[in-house]
Amino acid sequence: MTQPLIELNGVRRSYAQGGGELEVLHGISLKIYPGEMVAIIGPSGSGKSTLMNIIGCLDTPSAGSYRVNGTDTAKLEPDALATLRRDFFGFIFQRYHLLGHLSAQENVEVPAIYAGVKPRKRALRSAELLAKLGLHERLGYKPSQLSGGQQQRVSIARALMNGGQIILADEPTGALDTKSGAEVMKILSELNEQGHTIILVTHDPKIAACAKRIIAIEDGAIKSDALNDKRMDAGVQKAGSGSVIKNVWAQSWGAFYDRFKEAFIMAWRAMVANRMRTLLTMLGIIIGIMAVVSVVALARGASEQIMANISSLGTNTITIYPGERMGDVRSGRVRTLTPRDLNALAGQPFADSASAAVQSSVLLRRGNLEYNATAQGVSADMFRVYGYEVSAGRLFTSGDVEQNRQICVIDHNTAQNLFAHQDPIGQAILVNAVPLAVVGVLEEKDSPFVRPDSLNVYLPYTAAMTRLIKQDYLSSIVVRVASGFSTAVAERAIVRLLTARHGRQDFFIQSSDTIMKSISSATLTFTLLISAIAVISLVVGGIGVMNIMLVSVTERTREIGIRMAVGARQSDILAQFLIEAVMVCLIGGFAGVLLTFIVGNIVQSLSSSIVLSFSLASVLAAVITSSAIGIVFGFMPARSASRLNPIEALARE
Ligand code: ADP
Ligand code: MG
Repeated sequence: MTQPLIELNGVRRSYAQGGGELEVLHGISLKIYPGEMVAIIGPSGSGKSTLMNIIGCLDTPSAGSYRVNGTDTAKLEPDALATLRRDFFGFIFQRYHLLGHLSAQENVEVPAIYAGVKPRKRALRSAELLAKLGLHERLGYKPSQLSGGQQQRVSIARALMNGGQIILADEPTGALDTKSGAEVMKILSELNEQGHTIILVTHDPKIAACAKRIIAIEDGAIKSDALNDKRMDAGVQKAGSGSVIKNVWAQSWGAFYDRFKEAFIMAWRAMVANRMRTLLTMLGIIIGIMAVVSVVALARGASEQIMANISSLGTNTITIYPGERMGDVRSGRVRTLTPRDLNALAGQPFADSASAAVQSSVLLRRGNLEYNATAQGVSADMFRVYGYEVSAGRLFTSGDVEQNRQICVIDHNTAQNLFAHQDPIGQAILVNAVPLAVVGVLEEKDSPFVRPDSLNVYLPYTAAMTRLIKQDYLSSIVVRVASGFSTAVAERAIVRLLTARHGRQDFFIQSSDTIMKSISSATLTFTLLISAIAVISLVVGGIGVMNIMLVSVTERTREIGIRMAVGARQSDILAQFLIEAVMVCLIGGFAGVLLTFIVGNIVQSLSSSIVLSFSLASVLAAVITSSAIGIVFGFMPARSASRLNPIEALARE
C-alpha cells in the first residue's frame, strides 16, 4: 500500500486565552494519499484554518503527531520546515496574500528566489505558469491593478512555482464572485488531474462538491470523512496512482550569491519606497561620519605642519640648558654650563659638533639709530646646526671664535633697520657700546621659533663672554649627533657625562626628537578626545537606524509572514533586514566622506591657516565603522523579524 503523503494522529491545538487554554482542535486523525483532492468543510470558527496551517507547516500541533511523507515534523528544524513549505507545499489564501510592491511575475518568482533558482529560469517558468492561467498580458501588473480572480490565479501560479506537489487552498473562492470562483475551482481540478494533491478548505458545500473526498469538521473534530459520490469514479481511479511531482529545482551553483543579490534588491526597494525616512535616518550617520573624518583630518593636518617645521631644523640636535626645566626661574643663577663642558662634549664620539650659545638683550647703535636687539654669542657650528645661510658677506669661522674676534653676522631685519639700502659688510655697529664689524647678513628665513620682527646679532661666543656680557658660563650648548648614533643614546651619554662633571644634574636637555614626540603625543590625545565625541554622534545615528528598522519590521509584518509561508528561511528574512540597515549606514558613510571632502576643500581654499590632511585609513575606518553600526544596530530588529511566527504575521493587516 502506498505511504500516505500526509498523516495526522490525534492532533490537538490549543491557544492561550485569558489565563486559560482554549482547545480548538480536539484530536484530529487523518491520512491523505498522493493524487487526492480533498475538501475540508465546516462552519466558520470550526478550526479549518488552524488545521490547514498545521498541515502546511506554518503552525505546530500542541499534541499529537504530524508526518509528511513519513517524516515526523516535530523533529524538523525551522529551516527544514521552510524547505517543506518552499518545495513541497503551495499555499493559496482567501485574501491572495500577494506582495503589493511586486508585479504579478515577481510575486510568482518569490518562492523560486528562496529556492536559489537562476533569474533566467525563474522568469521563463513564471511567465509560462501565468500564461497557462491566462495572465500572459498581465505579467508586469501590480496586485492592485488586477481583479480578485486574477490575483487568485497569480497566487496559484506562485503555489506551483517550485512544484507545488501539495496545494493547500484556504477558502480560495471566499473573496471571489461566482464566475471567478468557478474558474479557480476548474484550475484546481485540472491541477489534480495532472497529479497535484489538493487540500481545500471551504464552508460552501457547492465548492466542496468539486472534490473527490469530503471531510466535514465541526467544533475541532472530524464529523464525517467520505468519498464524494458524484465524482467517485474519476477520483478513486486517480487516487493513489497520481504521479508524484518532483520539485523542479535542484540547488544550483551560485544560489547563495543569488539569494544575497535578491535580498539586496528587496532591501533597496524598501529603502526607495521610504525615501524621506531613509534620508533622515542616513543624516545621523552622515553627520557622525563627517565629524569623525574631518576631526581626524584636521588633527593630522595640524600635526603634519608642526612636524614639517621641526624637521626643517634637523632632527639630530640636542640642546642642553641650565636649570631643571624650561622656564625654571632659577636657571639664570645656574652657572655651571661652561666652555670646558663644551670642549668635553665636542670630544665625544657621538658628537658631530658642539656649539655654545650665550644670549643677552642689548642696545644696537649706528650713528643716530638705536634699537633693542638680542646678541647671540655662538660657535661657528651654530649656523650649520640651524641651517642658516648668508645672503651677503660670510659666516664667521671657528678660527674667528678661537681668536675672540670682534665681528658679527646680523639677520635680515637688523640689516634693514640699521643700513636700509647701504651695504652693511665691513661697517661697524655698536652693541652695548662694544664695536663689532659686520662680516655677513643672514638670509631671510621663516622659522616658528624666531619672531619675524626680532633683531638678532650673532658674534663669536668667546668675544661675547669676554667683552660684551662678561660671564664665564654658557646659556646653552647644542650638540649635533654624529650619524650612526641614535638621539636617545646620545641623550643618555650627555646626561651621564655632565652629571659626572657637575656632581649633580643641574641642567636639562631637549632634542628635536623629544619635542616631536611630545607634540605628536599631544595631538594624539587631542584627536582621541575629539574623536570620542564624534563617535558618540555616530552611536546616536546608529540608534536612529535601529529605531527605523524596528518601525519597518512592524510595518512589514504581513510581508514577512507571506515570505515565510512561501518558504523563506529565518536567515533570508534576517539577511534582508540586516542588508537594509547596513546599506543605509554604508550609503550614509560614503555620503559623509564625500561631503567632508567637498566642505574641507572649500574651507581650505578660503583659509590658508586650516590644513586638512585626509588619510585613506580614516576613510576606510569611516566606512568600516558605518557598516559595523549597521550590523550592530540593525541586528536586533532583523532578528525579531526573522523570529516572527508566520501565522501571527500573516494575520496582521
Ligand atoms: P475557521 O477557519 O474554521 O473559520 P479558525 O481555525 O480560524 O476557524 O479558528 C478556530 C477557532 O480558533 C476560532 O474560535 C478562533 O477564535 C480560534 N483562534 C484561531 N486563531 C487563534 C489565535 N491565534 N488565538 C486564539 N484563538 C484563535
Ligand atoms: Mg478560516
